[in-house]
Amino acid sequence: MSSPKIIIIGGGLGGLTLAQSLRSQGINFELFERDEGPQARIQGWAVALQWIIPHLRHIMPKEAPSLESVSVSAGQSEPDTADLFDANTGESIMAKKGQNWGPGTFIRVNRAKYRQYLLTGLDIRWGHRFTHYEVTETGGVKAFFDDGSMATGDILVGADGLRSRVRSTTVREALYQPNPPALNTLPAGVIVGEVILTREQYKRQAKLGRAFHACMGKGVFLFTGLTSYSSDMSEGNFYWLFYFPEDQPAESWIKTASKAELLAFVKGKVQGIYPAFREIVELQKVEDMGEPFIMHDRVPEMCPAGPVTLIGDATHPMTPLRGEGANNAMRDSIELGQKLGEAVELDSSLADALRAFEAVMIPRATQSVLLSRQVALTMER
Ligand SMILES: Cc1cc2nc3c(=O)[nH]c(=O)nc-3n(C[C@H](O)[C@H](O)[C@H](O)COP(=O)(O)OP(=O)(O)OC[C@H]3O[C@@H](n4cnc5c(N)ncnc54)[C@H](O)[C@@H]3O)c2cc1C
Repeated sequence: MSSPKIIIIGGGLGGLTLAQSLRSQGINFELFERDEGPQARIQGWAVALQWIIPHLRHIMPKEAPSLESVSVSAGQSEPDTADLFDANTGESIMAKKGQNWGPGTFIRVNRAKYRQYLLTGLDIRWGHRFTHYEVTETGGVKAFFDDGSMATGDILVGADGLRSRVRSTTVREALYQPNPPALNTLPAGVIVGEVILTREQYKRQAKLGRAFHACMGKGVFLFTGLTSYSSDMSEGNFYWLFYFPEDQPAESWIKTASKAELLAFVKGKVQGIYPAFREIVELQKVEDMGEPFIMHDRVPEMCPAGPVTLIGDATHPMTPLRGEGANNAMRDSIELGQKLGEAVELDSSLADALRAFEAVMIPRATQSVLLSRQVALTMER
């Protein structure tokens, strides 16, 4: 086959990584993203890159900045560290297990800067909201957008996240059996806050973990992370997530609660824990509380025969409790890029390459979904 074209829907972490992988192999692609531009929407706070790091360095163009320069602690002399503590005693659970998240084991990147990093050397089609696709008589695809425009290609990849529109037109309901329903709602909620800390306050947080720390025990599961520093390093932007079991996720009280009620709930829960961990909640201003959410996940499965596949949260959303969703999304992109590259090289079936990718992705991502679910299901009350 001469010079096939891959259509990618979604310019999040997964879609952009796939675009980089295809670019690095000289494979033709077109990426469509509904956002109007890279800064059109707040990208979230930060994400910890773990086992994906060596693969990433391999596909990025030479002119890309270093990964370290987009880390949350860029500009600081000391490297990223993180820890998990017992909320009651203040002891490190990681140390007790003989494990550590020390320097070199991860890089925590600021999401907005990291999207910019992944965009290096790419030309993508902003402001295109995908609506549906059709498979053509010759086995290719037509992708349609809500402004009435259309694109044609040989393969369509849905990298369009948790509420994937591509998935809703790709996977037949019967394929889910006996697996869980399309999107599994977990009996667990998350309350979120954002706080700006002074230098003295963030120095105290940094002692617990320079990039992030979490504490758990006696009904508390509290994560605290750094997003960025002010340019003169006099302030640090932090966020925290309070995870809790919620027996009625579909009708959860958090959906209608006021910001003051959400904060009061968390303050009540953290009252008895080790003081260093609850400081961030005590400093929280009501008006800076974020949007709470209920957690979802999904076990991935093979897509039906044909020229369409899914990557990242579009096929295997998972709880954030092990920090593996983005790492898996980017691993999908690199594996799919390799399979497509081999097919182009050998002039073999691109659709077969999609199934070969799904065969390696499914066991890996399923394990991450189930382990991440397990943490949500075993949270203490
Ligand atoms: C609080 C929290 C913390 C997390 N922390 C970590 C962590 O530390 N480590 C980790 O590995 N993972 C983490 N994750 C998970 C991670 O954020 C996701 O797994 C990852 O972002 C998935 O990437 P994606 O590209 O598949 O989807 P997304 O990042 O959701 O990107 C999807 C893209 O598709 C676009 N899109 C959607 N619909 C359309 C449409 N119809 N047409 C065109 N474009 C469309 C969207 O605008 C978006 O840009 C965390 C998640 C949460 C909620």
